[in-house]
Amino acid sequence: STVVVAMDGPSGSGKSSTSRAVAHRLGLRYLDTGAQFRALTAAVLDAGADLEDPDAIAAAAATTRVESGTDPQHPTITVDGVDVAARIRTQEVTDHVSAVASVPQVRQRLLDLQRAIIGDGGIVVEGRDIGSVVAPDAEVKLYLTADPAARAQRRTAENGAADVDATRADLLRRDSIDSGRATAPAVAPDGAVHLDTTPYTLDEVVEQVIALVRQ
Ligand code: C5P
Repeated sequence: STVVVAMDGPSGSGKSSTSRAVAHRLGLRYLDTGAQFRALTAAVLDAGADLEDPDAIAAAAATTRVESGTDPQHPTITVDGVDVAARIRTQEVTDHVSAVASVPQVRQRLLDLQRAIIGDGGIVVEGRDIGSVVAPDAEVKLYLTADPAARAQRRTAENGAADVDATRADLLRRDSIDSGRATAPAVAPDGAVHLDTTPYTLDEVVEQVIALVRQ
């Protein structure tokens, strides 16, 4: 298959679980572009770069090699050959990722990498700018949303975090940075099918997406 499925939406909307399950069921590869931004953020933090200085962030990111494994059942992510799967889910990385992702040189570097991985297709790609910028010609574009309360509930359960209110505040803070940045802001892409996942189980969302891909 050469299909490209672009899956955009804010965190906690069900994007990751849905993307992985759809890719697995349809025998497609899977790319988590959020994990790539998180990996570069970890590298920028390790380099001790000043996070108030976009040029310093760009310089630290420029020398970093990010690699993504695209098996939906075992996605992997490394920075200069080191497995950073656990590190990228830490609060420290979450706190800084939206600032790093707003630096144009960071986005350009990952854009080249993302397009190389997409190649001839056969992949589900999740992120914030997939249908709008990374893969505007994708055959299937989805925009997943959910109520902030549902999003915070899901994220808190996933992270084993205790505080739903803090998680909710963090989601809304990142939404506002991601949709307000100048380069490739998070948007619902033109032509995307909007799906509010709040009332549905994961299986129900997966079935709806698979039906769209098969159309
Ligand atoms: O999807 P996830 O919550 O892991 O993404 C982390 C952050 O990476 C987002 O809040 C956003 O700042 C950035 N991101 C982005 N563009 C993408 C994917 C993620 O700017 N395509």
